Amino acid sequence: MRNFIYKIQAFMRGRYGFDELNMSILVIALIINIVGRFIFNFTARMIFRLISFALIIIFIFRMLSRNCYQRNRENEVFKPIFTKTVDFFKFNYRRFKDGRTHRYYKCPNCKAQLRVKNIKGKHTIRCPKCGNQFQKKIR
Ligand SMILES: [Zn+2]
Repeated sequence: MRNFIYKIQAFMRGRYGFDELNMSILVIALIINIVGRFIFNFTARMIFRLISFALIIIFIFRMLSRNCYQRNRENEVFKPIFTKTVDFFKFNYRRFKDGRTHRYYKCPNCKAQLRVKNIKGKHTIRCPKCGNQFQKKIR
């Protein structure tokens, strides 16, 4: 087993490996693959399978690539999209998790998301980002 790991390490030396873009390509390929299995139409199912296969090829190509400079540049272009997507899911997961105890409001001035304790009554909310104050009523 240890020998096997050494062999993989030797094989991967100088190769690009794993990054945010590759992780996303793999996840998207898997999702397309799984969704494709539930499609009844033969042609559409084949197209899904083909796209999933193509993405896996790209994933393997990028992972084993020796042109680390180019792969890194691709990842840098992709990173902001990745961060935004992760933040979106993190935010909605949190919102879902404390939906009973907290309310979420957008600051009317700077559009920042504000998290407020769910207590009945009229509240003056102060945005910590821009200092703007606004009223909200929680029933
Ligand atoms: Zn604000």
